[in-house]
Amino acid sequence: MLQCTAVTLLPPDAVLRLTYPGADGPEDPEPYVLCELGEHDSTPTGPPTEHAAYLWPGRTPDSPALWFFWTGNGPERTHRTETAPWCPAVLRRLDSGLVRRCALFDHHPAPHSWDVTDPLGDLLADRLVPGDTSEG
Ligand SMILES: [Zn+2]
Ligand SMILES: [Zn+2]
Repeated sequence: MLQCTAVTLLPPDAVLRLTYPGADGPEDPEPYVLCELGEHDSTPTGPPTEHAAYLWPGRTPDSPALWFFWTGNGPERTHRTETAPWCPAVLRRLDSGLVRRCALFDHHPAPHSWDVTDPLGDLLADRLVPGDTSEG
């Protein structure tokens, strides 16, 4: 499945969070964010599925991270910036012993991150962590 192609402009308050002095990463972060979810079409009758973009990590890799959720576009856009816990799903690779964690938030719509093909590159790095290292 392809990644959702929705893009939106971050509101100034969200941009400020990303540009505090001493931050690692791009010196001039783009105020645009891209939906990280797999393609999700809202049904005409139901409520729209929110787009979601990863903004900022939590205190630790396992801490809830900051996400930007939005629906609609332009003047009709509604958005919120919230921390969300990580999706607990993992994909265990038998060949390498690595455990691949879903890079999306808990209870996300659409498939887990490993089923999403990102046509624009690795906007969100896979969260690869060592598997069970039970050896003594
Ligand atoms: Zn989306
Ligand atoms: Zn997931």
